[in-house]
Amino acid sequence: MTRNKLLSIVNLQLIHKKLYTRDAVRVRFAPSPTGQLHLGGLRTALYNYLFARKNNGSFILRIEDTDQTRLQIGAQEKLHENLIWTGIIPDEDPIRGGPKGPYLQSERLDLYKEQVKVLLDNGSAYYCFCSDRRLELLKKEALKTRQIPKYDNRCRHLEKNEIKQKMEQEIPYCIRFKLSSNPVSFKDIVYRDVSLTLQEGDPVIIKTDGFPTYHFANVVDDHFMEISHVLRGVEWLLSTPKHLELYNAFGWTPPHYAHLPLILNTDGSKLSKRQGDISVESFKKNGIFPLALINYITLAGSGFQRDTNVLTCYNYEELIKQFDITTVNENSSKLNPDLLLDLNRLELCKLLADKVNSKYLVEKVRKLVTEAFPERIKDGSLQLDEDHILTVLNWARNRIHNLNDLVTPNFAFIWILAQDKSVASDSNELESLKMLSNKLMEMNPTDFNQNTLKDYLKDFTKSNGIKFSNFMKLLRKSLSGLEQGPSVAEMMEILGKKETLTRLNKNVDTL
Ligand code: GLU
Repeated sequence: MTRNKLLSIVNLQLIHKKLYTRDAVRVRFAPSPTGQLHLGGLRTALYNYLFARKNNGSFILRIEDTDQTRLQIGAQEKLHENLIWTGIIPDEDPIRGGPKGPYLQSERLDLYKEQVKVLLDNGSAYYCFCSDRRLELLKKEALKTRQIPKYDNRCRHLEKNEIKQKMEQEIPYCIRFKLSSNPVSFKDIVYRDVSLTLQEGDPVIIKTDGFPTYHFANVVDDHFMEISHVLRGVEWLLSTPKHLELYNAFGWTPPHYAHLPLILNTDGSKLSKRQGDISVESFKKNGIFPLALINYITLAGSGFQRDTNVLTCYNYEELIKQFDITTVNENSSKLNPDLLLDLNRLELCKLLADKVNSKYLVEKVRKLVTEAFPERIKDGSLQLDEDHILTVLNWARNRIHNLNDLVTPNFAFIWILAQDKSVASDSNELESLKMLSNKLMEMNPTDFNQNTLKDYLKDFTKSNGIKFSNFMKLLRKSLSGLEQGPSVAEMMEILGKKETLTRLNKNVDTL
């Protein structure tokens, strides 16, 4: 997606959003562009977004791209595009910018350099010249004695002149942070009182390549972007003491923390990032509506005050009202895939009931059909007028979960018209089609369902001395350009009385 296109979507969506006043609440979603946006990331983004909107705050998208070895080309743009698709629109981000930008960490290197000097000067950080080989040996040694490998903090004790000498010899170095071994206690909005003791060696904060590590850049940015609350996955809980020590070394006030519990599959197994099917992109491709996906996530976890008896696909305004971060609990969230399809159907019905949105659905179906049957575009056998699509959608809304279902082979007849001009091979066949058409015209539209039609067609053939199976073939041919599909009665029900007669009469008239 181009920058302009993305900007126009953002601006368009903003017009529909109420203006809100800013106050102290500033939250951020800070993904690394190393892959797809998946459900775990989406949940983090969503909770941050709802929290910001609930508190008249700002929601920021910051891209943490300091690990240059793990970057994936195009991942940042895709991530941003998918986020916007779900309706989560950042107030400040790498494309739109904002008062505390840039929002791409690789564009903030000067700030990190400047800030690491503060820590070097106040003695909280130091240069480390240990080679990879030495670090590797330390690791091996620890494993041999069944200890957890950790850096032995050797360079903490280097004298000033030793450092100068090594610098002059151009020995590659990194910068490490002096970590204490005391327990760190803090309050977490979800996990309440947490106390952790770090048993690690001093962590690297600036790598040999001059780039900061996650911990350092994350803390510096949260501070300079004036982040008030950090809402992130529980997998980062163990990093928080390190971050708090960094805040302390700088003399800064840390943000409030809320770590969000794990999201699991229904069977309690871990959601794997590698499974293509939990990426937002794949839900989008599979015809899931953005709000259905968003509600699906909210159903899995705590944090929402609402009636749980009736499954409802809420809009953002309702979700913001229901969201209360203080009611998020430590229990893991379990996804129930059946609910996703039900939510999608509810959203389909909602969209269809609205004039503007139903036009959007018509467009969507048109696109799906032309993509599904490209060979039919040329011969003009696709029926894609608005009336027809709306009739089909109205029939489908309580029967399908997903618009993609409408272009499966079973439903192809809906869109593909008969091309063959000589559907009836003799005058008898022609006569029988004419007769049926005339009779159907008198039928009450409410009787136009497959059960009634089945008996109706049987009676019709019987009383006119026509062979049922032959007549069904003939009828199928005149109703659609395909030889396969559901039963003729079902086809007629789906097409509805008006369209069935139009298609039938077209053949009768041609002949
Ligand atoms: N870049 C980290 C991630 O990929 C951000 C963690 C945080 O929110 O602090 O999830």
